Amino acid sequence: MDEKLQTRCVIAGGGPAGIMAGYLLARAGVPVIVLEKHADFFRDFRGDTIHPSSLELMYELGLLDEFLKQPHQEVRQLRAFVNGHVVPIADFTKLPTHCKFIAFMPQWDFLNFLSAHARAFPSFQLLMQHEVVNLTFDQQRVTGVRAKTPRGELEIRADLIIGADGRHSIIQRCAGLERQECGVAIDVLWMRISKKKDDPQQTLGFFQQGKLLVLLDRGDYWQCGFVIPKGGFDAIKARGLQQLQKAIVSFAAFLRDRVAELDDWSKIKLLTVQINRLRDWCRDGLLCIGDSAHAMSPAGGVGINLAIQDAVATANLVGGKLRAGPVSVDDLRNVQARREWPTRLIQAMQVFIHRHVVTGQTSNRKDSLPFVVSLLKWFPVLRQIPARFIGIGPRPEHYWNRGR
Ligand SMILES: Cc1cc2nc3c(=O)[nH]c(=O)nc-3n(C[C@H](O)[C@H](O)[C@H](O)COP(=O)(O)OP(=O)(O)OC[C@H]3O[C@@H](n4cnc5c(N)ncnc54)[C@H](O)[C@@H]3O)c2cc1C
Repeated sequence: MDEKLQTRCVIAGGGPAGIMAGYLLARAGVPVIVLEKHADFFRDFRGDTIHPSSLELMYELGLLDEFLKQPHQEVRQLRAFVNGHVVPIADFTKLPTHCKFIAFMPQWDFLNFLSAHARAFPSFQLLMQHEVVNLTFDQQRVTGVRAKTPRGELEIRADLIIGADGRHSIIQRCAGLERQECGVAIDVLWMRISKKKDDPQQTLGFFQQGKLLVLLDRGDYWQCGFVIPKGGFDAIKARGLQQLQKAIVSFAAFLRDRVAELDDWSKIKLLTVQINRLRDWCRDGLLCIGDSAHAMSPAGGVGINLAIQDAVATANLVGGKLRAGPVSVDDLRNVQARREWPTRLIQAMQVFIHRHVVTGQTSNRKDSLPFVVSLLKWFPVLRQIPARFIGIGPRPEHYWNRGR
C-alpha cells in the first residue's frame, strides 16, 4: 500500500531555490518537506557562484562567518580574454555589501551547508531519492504530490506545493502552466581537464570570434564549459575529438599537455541552454520558483542568485500566512509580481550577451573587441554597472524575519 503524509508545504527539488525556500520557511515555523530525486548533491554539473547579494542574505541570517569557513575562492574582479585582449568586466570592490566578492564554492558544499542548518529546525524535512512524479488535485486546486521512493510510492498532501525542480520541471508540466521561450543561440559542452600547480589563477572566460571557453577552478581539475552554436554538437562530433582538443588549446594553450585526457565522447556532456519563463508562476495551491518558473542561461552566472532571491520573496510574502493555514492564489501572485520584472530584465540581458558578446554577431573582425566590451576597457567607472548587475542584481531581496 502507498505511504501517505500530510504537511503544510511540500517543495519539489533540492537545488538552490528549493533548499533556500525550505530553510527559510522552516525557520519561520512552517512545517515543510523538501523532496530531492537524487541521493546526494554531488552531480557533475552545478553552477558554482554565490553572489554578493546571496552572501548578504547569509549575513542577515547569521550564517555568513560559518559559511565563509567552507573552502571557496573569492573573486573581486572579473576579467575576460576577448579576441586576444585582456578586458576587465566587473569590479565588485565598491558594492554596498558586506562581501565585495563572488564566492566560488562547489554547489554541493553550499547545499550541504544550508540543508544541515535547515535540519536544525524541527519543522524541516529533506527526503533524498524522492522523485515527484505527479500532482494530486481536488477540482482546480492542487492538493499534493506523488513521489517515487526507494520504498515505493508516497503521497504527500499539503496546503502549498512549491515547484523548485529546475528547468525540466515536472511540476510546471503537471500543473499545465504555459511556458514562453526566448530564442537561445548557444549550447554548452561540459568536461573536466586536470589542473596543475603552475596553471594560471582562476580564469573566467576566453572569448574568440564568437566562441567561448570558460574554466572553473575545482581544486585538482578545471571544469570546462565550451560554448557551441545551438544544435552544433553532432557537427563537432563528426569533425572528431582531435579537432575539439585543438579548439580548446587555441583558447588556453597551457592545457596542451593534458587535453588528450578528453579521449572519449562520454567525457563530454552536452548542456542544452534554455531561457524561458512561465506566463503564470502559480495556480491555486501551487507556486513555481527558480528555474522551474524561469530557466536561465549561464551568461553572467546569475541563475543561482535569482533562484535564491525567489525563495526569499516566497518566504517573506507567504511564510507568515502559511504558518497559520492555506494561502490564496492572490498571495502566490504577489510572489510572481515581485520577482517577474527582475527575471525579465536579467533574461533580456542574457539574450543581449549571447548576441553581442558570446556569438559576436556585431563584429566580424578577428581581433576586434565588441563595442560594449571596449567601453568597459576605456572607462573603469563603467565596470561598476556589470558589478552591480551581476553581484546584486535588480531588486535584491532581504529576509524580513517575520515568523519568529
Ligand atoms: C551550462 C550552465 C551553466 C550554468 N552555470 C551557472 C553558474 O555558474 N552560476 C549560476 O548562478 N547559474 C548558472 N547556471 C544557471 C543555474 O544552474 C540555475 O539557474 C540554478 O541552478 C537554478 O536553481 P534551481 O534551484 O531553480 O534549479 P536546479 O539547480 O536545477 O535544482 C533543481 C533540483 O530539483 C531536483 N529535481 C528535478 N526534478 C525533480 C523531481 N521530479 N523530483 C524531485 N526533485 C527533482 C534536481 O535534482 C535538482 O536538485 C548555469 C546554467 C547552465 C545551463
